[in-house]
Amino acid sequence: MSPMSPMPEGRWPWRRWRTAWRRWSLWSLLVALVLSMLVTMVWLAGRYEASQVQDKLERDTANAVADIRAALNRNLQDLQALNAPDNEPAEWKTRAAELLQVRRELMRIEWRDAGLQIRSHAETPYRNVQWEDQLRTNNTHPEAVLTCTHARRLNGPAYSPSYFQLLAEGLGTEMMEVCLPLTQSGHIIGFVIGTYSLQSLLITQVSKNLPRTQEVSFTEPDGTRLALLGASWRGTRMFTAQQLLDLPGSTLVLRMDSWHRAPSVFPNVLTALVTLMSIALVSVVAVLVRDNRRRLRAERDLGDALAFRKAMEDSLVTGLRARDLQGRISYVNPAFCNMVGFTAEELLGLSIAPYWPPERAEIYARRRDNRLSGNAPPPREGHESIFMRKDGTRIPVLIFEAPLINAQGQHTGWMSAFIDISEQKRMEEISRASQERLQATARLATVGEMASLLSHELTQPLVAISSYATGSLNMLGSDGGAAGSAGNEAHLRQQLQDLRMAMERISFQADRAGRVIKSVRDFVRRRDQSREVIGAAELIDAVLPLVSLQARNLGVRVTTDIEPGLSPVLCDPTMIEQVLLNLARNGMQAMDSPETVDRELQLRVRRAAASTRRSWVEFAVIDCGSGIPKHVAEQLFTPFFTTRNEGMGLGLSLCRTVVEQHGGHLQHSPHSPRGTVFAFTLPTHNPAQVEP
Ligand code: ADP
Repeated sequence: MSPMSPMPEGRWPWRRWRTAWRRWSLWSLLVALVLSMLVTMVWLAGRYEASQVQDKLERDTANAVADIRAALNRNLQDLQALNAPDNEPAEWKTRAAELLQVRRELMRIEWRDAGLQIRSHAETPYRNVQWEDQLRTNNTHPEAVLTCTHARRLNGPAYSPSYFQLLAEGLGTEMMEVCLPLTQSGHIIGFVIGTYSLQSLLITQVSKNLPRTQEVSFTEPDGTRLALLGASWRGTRMFTAQQLLDLPGSTLVLRMDSWHRAPSVFPNVLTALVTLMSIALVSVVAVLVRDNRRRLRAERDLGDALAFRKAMEDSLVTGLRARDLQGRISYVNPAFCNMVGFTAEELLGLSIAPYWPPERAEIYARRRDNRLSGNAPPPREGHESIFMRKDGTRIPVLIFEAPLINAQGQHTGWMSAFIDISEQKRMEEISRASQERLQATARLATVGEMASLLSHELTQPLVAISSYATGSLNMLGSDGGAAGSAGNEAHLRQQLQDLRMAMERISFQADRAGRVIKSVRDFVRRRDQSREVIGAAELIDAVLPLVSLQARNLGVRVTTDIEPGLSPVLCDPTMIEQVLLNLARNGMQAMDSPETVDRELQLRVRRAAASTRRSWVEFAVIDCGSGIPKHVAEQLFTPFFTTRNEGMGLGLSLCRTVVEQHGGHLQHSPHSPRGTVFAFTLPTHNPAQVEP
């Protein structure tokens, strides 16, 4: 697409929408990724912390089970040690009671013989248990019997499953029996049965290491709780660990529950660190988003400014062209392309422009080189030039040039603005033509005024010619007398002489009439403007017959005062004659009133003050008329302003135009004692001067 062709309608919104969507989806994706990463990190940190707690709990549970197992084994040894080879029941009972005092978890110890009959027993002093003595003594206590049967089979200690035993206070507790066979030379000679309170076992073995937040319990493998200890404080989150306590004949599960608070925001350093990093990351993303948004806004503003500038450039009627320092065209706007008829692609990069007319290309190239070498005219001073359109037609343009300075203040080329002045030129031509027509009309009007004077003036030579001709004819018709006489001969010679004189007078009068007519014809005839070098006296002489003609009629005396030794002036004589004639006629008309006694019109020519470049001659027409009142003076040069009934009001405005076209200046001032001075200047001809 060419840079000048317009963007198709409706494409921008779609493209913009697509770019915006892509940008926003990318940002949303990034934010979603960062958030999910942060959530994952925090979740992982939380999980890690939970797993730490869980691990510790598992360790505690395993330790507790090990402690309980060690205690049970130690108790087995103590129970074994109760039975010396020749033990008396009373003595055994004492020792058993001692053992029960130190082993609080043991509730009762029985010594039974090989037939499971009780030989002696001792009970703990710490708890008041309602022992089913009858069941125990008649040997039908199911757990005790079963356990010992099992122990007999194992030939080693065996434990019973837990069972419920009433306490004296109406409460109850879970108990467990251990049966240890007593052997002598390979034969079972009896049994020692110990009864454990599971609750007490927990108290003695686990309670000292148990934190306040933990709860420890014995449960059945199916989860039924048998004994419970601890947990005076409960949190909102619970961790659980279980460990099997596998005993011969019985399996218990030790379960430990650990209570924790609701997970705090920073449960540990890792989570705090991760959270801090997350906050930092989110802040960075937020800053990035803000920065991006600001950048987008700046981008959009820049885009708007560029679009505005482009719209401005495109709608300009002034042609713009930039050149780099090597003189190559680096930029042209649409108005310039329209002006010269070439496209931007055809012009960019060229140093010899195709719109230079071939006959002027050399001058233009010189001018361009001159500019590039730094001799540019001041930017405000435009200069006229001629360009050539692509179709070969010429186009006058006004060029303004200025150096191109970039943002860093470096001179990077030249910028030129072009105004197509063909229309202006055409208007000037039309105005010049109508001006000429106006002048011709004004001249004709003057001629009309003079027509009666002319007829009067012409009658004089014509009457003279006629009377000379009649006299001559009379002379030719009269009889000359007798031929041959000496008197007649002298008379004939006299007549011939008179005839020659009459003919000469006729010729002179005809010449005079001819001059009068020629002066009028010359004045009326429209001619092309042409500058001639002419003496001031010649100009005055040329208008004098016509001025005198009117002066004689109005009783005005015309005097001339021409400074001797004046340089000739450069002017269009016909136009200047008309100016002089107009001013003289105005002056005479101003004196045409009864108050004006001294009617003198003076035509004065003298040297004017010289300017720096050339010298001037001043022509003045001085009258002694009524003078110019202030209100008339204000509109003196306004076209069609007149105070006379038959006046056109064009004379002075045309005079001023003519004088200014010659580079001169027309002004008026009062004349003392009365009257007005109209003066204008004309440049003198200086052969060394170059034409402007
Ligand atoms: P017109 O002669 O057709 O009236 P001009 O433009 O020559 O038009 O003059 C305009 C007016 O200026 C005249 O009508 C007259 O009032 C005034 N004027 C011109 N020359 C003189 C003069 N020398 N003295 C007094 N008034 C003058």
